[in-house]
Amino acid sequence: MFCPNCGNQIKENAAFCTHCGRKIVIEDLPAQQAKQDEAEK
Ligand SMILES: [Zn+2]
Repeated sequence: MFCPNCGNQIKENAAFCTHCGRKIVIEDLPAQQAKQDEAEK
């Protein structure tokens, strides 16, 4: 993968860019939807 800040290649599971030190944030889809529909029984 590549650092979104400096563009240098970094490890796939890197938490920080080893070149610029920027924290790598993996943007996942919002999967934590409250299951309130199930609670209304
Ligand atoms: Zn970087």
